[in-house]
Amino acid sequence: MSIDIVIKNHLPEWEQLIKELREKNKITSEINIEFSNKFIFNATAKKIVSNDRYLITIDREVFNMIYNFYHSTVNKENPQFVKMLSYTGCEMEYNEEYAKTLADFYVYLTLKFIFLHELGHIMNGHLGYYNSINDGMNHALNMNEDIAKNFNGLSAHEYQMLEINADSFASTNLMIGLLNDFQNSPSYLDRYKKVIPTRNQLFLMSITSNIILMLIQGMGLVKGGLKLTESKYIPKRSRLNEILKVYIVFSNTLNTSEKNLNLGVISPLVDAYQGLVNCYLIQCGYRNASEFGDYKLSEVELNNDLQEYITKLYKEIWPVIKPKLAPFAYVTYENLGG
Ligand SMILES: [Zn+2]
Repeated sequence: MSIDIVIKNHLPEWEQLIKELREKNKITSEINIEFSNKFIFNATAKKIVSNDRYLITIDREVFNMIYNFYHSTVNKENPQFVKMLSYTGCEMEYNEEYAKTLADFYVYLTLKFIFLHELGHIMNGHLGYYNSINDGMNHALNMNEDIAKNFNGLSAHEYQMLEINADSFASTNLMIGLLNDFQNSPSYLDRYKKVIPTRNQLFLMSITSNIILMLIQGMGLVKGGLKLTESKYIPKRSRLNEILKVYIVFSNTLNTSEKNLNLGVISPLVDAYQGLVNCYLIQCGYRNASEFGDYKLSEVELNNDLQEYITKLYKEIWPVIKPKLAPFAYVTYENLGG
């Protein structure tokens, strides 16, 4: 399928959400979405001061890679994978049409998360604040992997904190949208309804789309001599853990069976999907086998090492930067997160 058709399927919902948010929060600045053709896996958000608008730019390669991954793996060659992604818990006959819709639904979840992450940079005041402290050159916050030492006024720790905060906005709003939509008719989920048997699956499927997105971005790669104080990003596994925690906290606020979600249930999923995604990346020539290490993390690494760094960010960086973001944010202080 042409990527333009995939984009056309997703765009109306995103534009509708922007329209609703602008009305509800009385945002006078325009928020536009554009697509670029640089063939890099990247999305950015920036504020253009001269004509008072925000711009979310998503490269077509983001759509391409996500679409290709799901449509070349969710098929009859990988019945086990189809079964895992379906979360029905029962044996099923392989069905081509079902597999295609399942793949489409995961594409939908992944792309919406990426869009919402960029929207989070706008709604939570990151860009307004960023513009206020840098040289006014409309710098963008972006999701690619470059290690840059110059963040135009932000420290690496602050940049990392903003990324975690945008992720948190994205997973929360993804779930709010999904849960609302699931009950509505007509709904953006109508075309995927046959692969979402009950509302329960929405959490696990969204979580899975995030795990796989992080893996596609190279979560399993052996780390180089990366210095966290010079990097825009914390390790992807730490970032993923924070995203998973947001889903868990959110699910626990619901008075339904989704309440039982916890890291013990979710963590094994990461290992389960990692082998398959790494294999795909190697087979398609995106990565060399030698770039991947032993991906099973020990309990100590998971619970202590990854957590220590994030705890430090939340303790030392967040209390300082949150009040600075607030004047530029379109959400209440409480909803900025913490
Ligand atoms: Zn970002």
